[in-house]
Amino acid sequence: MGRKEEMAAAAQKLMGHQQDVRNLGIVAHIDHGKTTLSDNLIAAAGLINKELAGKQQFMDFEDQEQERGITINAANISLVPTVHGKQYLLNLIDTPGHVDFGGEVIRAMRAVDGVILVVDSVEGVMPQTETVIRQALRENVKPTLFINKVDRLINELQVDEAEMQKRFVKTITQVNNLIRKNAPAGKEELWQVNPGNGSVCFGSAYNHWAVSITSMTRTGINFKQVYDLMKTDKQKELAQKSPLEDTIFEMVVKHLPNPTEAQKYRTPVIWTGEQESEVGKSMISCNQNGPVAMMVTDVSVDPHAGDIATGRVYSGTLKKGVKVKLVGSQKEAMVNRVGVYMGPEFVEVEAIPAGSIGAIVGLREAYAGQTVAEEEMREFESFKTNVEPVITVSIEAKQTKDLPKLIEVIRQLTKEDPNLRASINQTTGEHLLSGMGELHLEINQYRIEKTHGVGITVSPPIVVYHETITGTSPELEGKSPNKHNKLLMMVEPIPAEIQNKLIENKVQGKVKLKDKEWIEKFQNAGIDIDESKKVWAIENYNLLVDGTKGIQALHEIRELVIQGFQEAMHGGPLAKEEVHGVKVTLVDAKLHEDAIHRGPSQIIPVVSRTIFACMLAAKAVLQEPKQLLTITTPEEYMGAVSKELQQRRTQITEIKNEGDATIIIGLAPVKELIGFSQAIRGAAQGRVIWTAEYHGYEILPPELQRKTVEEVRKRKGMDVEVKPYHFFLE
Ligand code: GDP
Repeated sequence: MGRKEEMAAAAQKLMGHQQDVRNLGIVAHIDHGKTTLSDNLIAAAGLINKELAGKQQFMDFEDQEQERGITINAANISLVPTVHGKQYLLNLIDTPGHVDFGGEVIRAMRAVDGVILVVDSVEGVMPQTETVIRQALRENVKPTLFINKVDRLINELQVDEAEMQKRFVKTITQVNNLIRKNAPAGKEELWQVNPGNGSVCFGSAYNHWAVSITSMTRTGINFKQVYDLMKTDKQKELAQKSPLEDTIFEMVVKHLPNPTEAQKYRTPVIWTGEQESEVGKSMISCNQNGPVAMMVTDVSVDPHAGDIATGRVYSGTLKKGVKVKLVGSQKEAMVNRVGVYMGPEFVEVEAIPAGSIGAIVGLREAYAGQTVAEEEMREFESFKTNVEPVITVSIEAKQTKDLPKLIEVIRQLTKEDPNLRASINQTTGEHLLSGMGELHLEINQYRIEKTHGVGITVSPPIVVYHETITGTSPELEGKSPNKHNKLLMMVEPIPAEIQNKLIENKVQGKVKLKDKEWIEKFQNAGIDIDESKKVWAIENYNLLVDGTKGIQALHEIRELVIQGFQEAMHGGPLAKEEVHGVKVTLVDAKLHEDAIHRGPSQIIPVVSRTIFACMLAAKAVLQEPKQLLTITTPEEYMGAVSKELQQRRTQITEIKNEGDATIIIGLAPVKELIGFSQAIRGAAQGRVIWTAEYHGYEILPPELQRKTVEEVRKRKGMDVEVKPYHFFLE
């Protein structure tokens, strides 16, 4: 039996003892040492050479990740370390460090019960640190803290012992403030990290050592000795006396909950079905003998095995031969093989019981976020992310014969990464790929060409704009093409708080009239009760409200009004970009008595055209996507970086010095960031590190409105001029 198989066998044995299992993730701001830490933990388990840990980057197993030195796909690995003489099963999920891929962090959080938050001792808490901790807490995932790169404090900043402690206290306080602010109710104090009880470790992942109060009691080393050993360049000795993995594993086992504890309070958050039902009770008690319920958190496509769905089993036991339903899609499948990951490798095991993370081979139709269950059940809550694709490229196969393969590859990529969307331009037939940023798309282009061997040509990236309104329109009357039907409509902006709530809670779709659940959803978002009862549809989080009174036959055209509304919301009057933040009210309607004269070809166009007229009258504008940039640069490149930023309409919000590096935080339009990667690499010989995080949409500055509208219209083959509003009422 090879080492991997031996470990898989040990993992299998431990899975049944839930109190000995921990499901955890490692989260951090980019470059703070998440991958180095994972590698060290994996090395400790004997899967890679200890000396190479941190240099081999085992978790970053795709070539591409190695080349760029960042982690992209959330992979997972099962480890079986011995802590205080007892063996445990740790299911460790790696998460991406680049927030272009933020959605993956959230999905990973769904599978785990705890995280190790890694913070660079020199840089301290960074914007992305805040984001990941918020994401973890929102999923009821408990944090612990590892302050990494402590060696830098001595080697680069030459701080004394007192200053070192001061810096630790600052970071811990900041982290605790974030926990207090974002923790689930009742856990604000309980989940504070505390060096005094060992829920904070300090160390250097790169140099393989770490300490905590608990480890110091065990090893007899005190802080002074740690400081002296570092100061005299004896980190190797420190690594022998207080190895990283011992301290970290100790912290994980002691401070992160086992699945039985965690599922008690996590179940109601991730699953809103009847808690008293059989499956509800079974999840709350983490019952291995209950009906199977698994949440898929990651899907990858293996060239040999096919689709592999990884996820957390919350109830029952998954094993070969079990028939499961892909809830929500009416599909059923037989579980073919189950297994665990030892890094990139899938190793088959007998069964995955409740409380563990494992993978199923052969669920062709499964996607990340899906509920896989033995019996019909309510689906797990969908992932709460309000990130959307902001940039698009069109892709063509260099050789026509590769087209079918290209389509298949795109299918695979979008399946593995829900933040990546594919569509077809209906007019030109081009394949469009939309993602979270330029880097995100570059990586996928690389995958298509290098991993899948399909030669492609790629258009320059195009920014995805939104259309919205800045005022309220008057009530305007539109006529159907046959002039026999007249609709009176108006539009007004949806207040930001309500819109955010709708997005956050993913309130979308066609509303069932007088349906209690829907009314409640609208009320929860802050819409008043009367109006909540009158919403007919919500599309891209725009609302269609029926404000009419006593109109005969209105119910007969309801479906058509909804269709017209949906059409308008998918392409607005300015440049056929998606519409956001608009409430449309149908105020009144005069309909032809005869149903023949109010069919789809009459009603759908009058609805969408009247909405267009109203939007134009309500001062429609374009919104552009923005990203929050965090740039770390050595002092000497500060000038070059500032120059780049100035040219890119960046609003700098903070500049701070940490050691010999300067950290710049700013808000930049996605459009202006095209080519930024390359420019900055050129200007600073690759010594500048930057991350970009989705920061929502903001109105494009007035001086760029007209020019941009024209650009987009031209690109789409439309007339360059926007029509005046009354054009749509004729
Ligand atoms: P990630 O982006 O969070 O996964 O960060 P990585 O693990 O890739 O580490 C980023 C960089 O920091 C790499 O060059 C590491 O070698 C370096 N690094 C990691 N841990 C330490 C440490 O303890 N001390 C120092 N000085 N560098 C470290």
